[in-house]
Amino acid sequence: MMNYFLHPNLTVTEVSPDKVHLANLAHQITIEGQNQNLKRVLQAIQTGTLAELLQQQDPDLETFYAILEFLTEHQFASLQSFAVTDKMMLDLALLQVTGQDGELKGPLAGYENVRPNSVAIFGQGELFSRVVAELRALDFSVLENPEESACERLLLITCSDNLNFTLNKKINALAIARQLPALFAVLNEHIALVGPLVIPGESSCFSCYEHRLAPNMHFVEETIASQFQHGNLIKPRSKPGVYAIAASFQIISQILKFFNRAYELCLVNEVLEINLLDYATDIRPVLRIPHCPACYSQHRLKPKAAVRALL
Ligand SMILES: [Zn+2]
Repeated sequence: MMNYFLHPNLTVTEVSPDKVHLANLAHQITIEGQNQNLKRVLQAIQTGTLAELLQQQDPDLETFYAILEFLTEHQFASLQSFAVTDKMMLDLALLQVTGQDGELKGPLAGYENVRPNSVAIFGQGELFSRVVAELRALDFSVLENPEESACERLLLITCSDNLNFTLNKKINALAIARQLPALFAVLNEHIALVGPLVIPGESSCFSCYEHRLAPNMHFVEETIASQFQHGNLIKPRSKPGVYAIAASFQIISQILKFFNRAYELCLVNEVLEINLLDYATDIRPVLRIPHCPACYSQHRLKPKAAVRALL
């Protein structure tokens, strides 16, 4: 007799004496005329007494088996226990199983190059500390500002309270050289910028993003931030405080989406910008620069001299 486990996100609502509503992220189904049998099966699973229920000479035995089949078919229950208890991780895992919201993108090649839930995080400041703490709470393996030689099969992340082009370009180069995925995140005053998630060889990179920013004055915040870098403006002395709390959720959620293979929710070729004061949200495309100095030369060889001579 195998053990069944109820999905931790399952909610069961008795709508009326002959209707029960079952729901998780993927499915919402109302069952009619089986309230008692459903209750008995669910209780037996919860209390570990399913084997006894199925051994009884019960007139409804066949129905019990049908209910079990129905529950597993819709991921309301499983023969495997659900080790992860974080709701978002479970929702993402469920999306992965059901393929809800159309076709899932991928697989991203970058995923195969990393160990599960293993990251190297670079940066400093309040946002950095908070993201590290939250990842540890989720049982991630976290290396803080490791040597480049220690970066094997990890998702690389940069995270800081001010846009740091120098650090981001360094990690971008490391990602491309090692074929490791990299996620860039920053708190720019009250604006959280998350992305792009760089998949070397498949997506635009941080340098592509930087090149797109430079001439474009629509990116006012980024321009100001880059001027901070060049010492043109005085940095504010306030601490990020609650902005770091709000921004860290967006970063953690992006990391969970990547590791749970919810590719259509990953910020590949995109940057998420959230104004944490007025909640204005924007997802901006990051197009690949045709001759990006960071990601172009790695994947397209220049024509040989003889061919060039013909051009
Ligand atoms: Zn690039």
